[in-house]
Amino acid sequence: MFKSNKRNGVSLNRCKIHLKTGDKVKVLSGKDKGKEGKVLAVSPKEGKVIVEGINIVSKHVKPRRAGQEGGIFKTEGALYACKLQLVCSHCGKPTRIAHKILEDGKKKRSCKKCGEVL
Ligand SMILES: [Zn+2]
Repeated sequence: MFKSNKRNGVSLNRCKIHLKTGDKVKVLSGKDKGKEGKVLAVSPKEGKVIVEGINIVSKHVKPRRAGQEGGIFKTEGALYACKLQLVCSHCGKPTRIAHKILEDGKKKRSCKKCGEVL
């Protein structure tokens, strides 16, 4: 019998991150589908990013000290990077990334639609 190499799906959900902090992105699926926002943070380890104004989750905070206010705070939750599409800052369209190798050998990201280096 063959020994199965399958793991518990831990690494299967991951997607490669093609985004950087400050990128404008469009949400492809989920409750915020179609919305656009700016990438605030990237977690390559989890394959997730946090986007400004997207995937707002409520956090319940209890007051710990006298005088401190408790309540429900809204904050951005992390999203899988594969649910997001980069919006080109040059042509303003949702695009995929092409990799361009410059004359000096540096690898740069560029827009597949207009070719602009991002
Ligand atoms: Zn473009």
